[in-house]
Amino acid sequence: MVGCVLLAAGSGSRFGEKKQFLTLNGKRLIDFSIETVSRIKEIDKVVIVLPKEDLDIPVNLNKPFKKVCGGKERQYSVYNGLLQLQDCEIVVIHDTARPFATEKMFLEGIENVKKGWDGSITAYKSRDTVKEVKDNTVLKTLDRNSIYIVQTPQTFNYEKLLYSHKKALSDNFLATDDSALMEREGFKITINEGSFLNFKITYPEDLKLALALLTLNNF
Ligand code: C5P
Repeated sequence: MVGCVLLAAGSGSRFGEKKQFLTLNGKRLIDFSIETVSRIKEIDKVVIVLPKEDLDIPVNLNKPFKKVCGGKERQYSVYNGLLQLQDCEIVVIHDTARPFATEKMFLEGIENVKKGWDGSITAYKSRDTVKEVKDNTVLKTLDRNSIYIVQTPQTFNYEKLLYSHKKALSDNFLATDDSALMEREGFKITINEGSFLNFKITYPEDLKLALALLTLNNF
């Protein structure tokens, strides 16, 4: 059984308001991910993680789903979602702040974990040169050939992800993605193909970009 956690419990502190319920071309941001997941027959059930005060929002999803409330940090929101998927062998974690994730990204991740990887994360090779900078001083240039930009969906073996989350919780370790928790336990993670267009709506300018893309394409 394959479960999917759709994360939508952010408070929008960087954006300025809760972006997950803003409408883009008449559709709530959260609905882009809900519709994509609806179309993927390999996903059996879904948990939508929401702010406590928004648990009653209407959701139109053509497979079994539950709504649960999120935590203070993204990692705690994922954990709350995971606890609802105890009967799954594979779990896909997705940020609903990424409306342009494709079905292929979900399917390739699921396929990689079915093949035996502990996890598969959506990533693409950095187009830009990346440098380490501290106090406005450039410390070093990273080798661009080995730098990947990481996104969601991220797909994992359920038991191993739950174990990694429990371990991180007891160690007080916080990370910005789930792969980092698996990596610190030595689990083997691979990548599936991401895209520059699968960006995360973080700041108001990202919303403008999303609207421009929607005008050009029929996403
Ligand atoms: O804050 P950021 O944009 O990095 O959040 C990534 C995703 O995680 C978003 O979809 C957001 O709704 C979700 N999130 C969450 N619970 C939190 C913080 C973020 O579900 N406490």
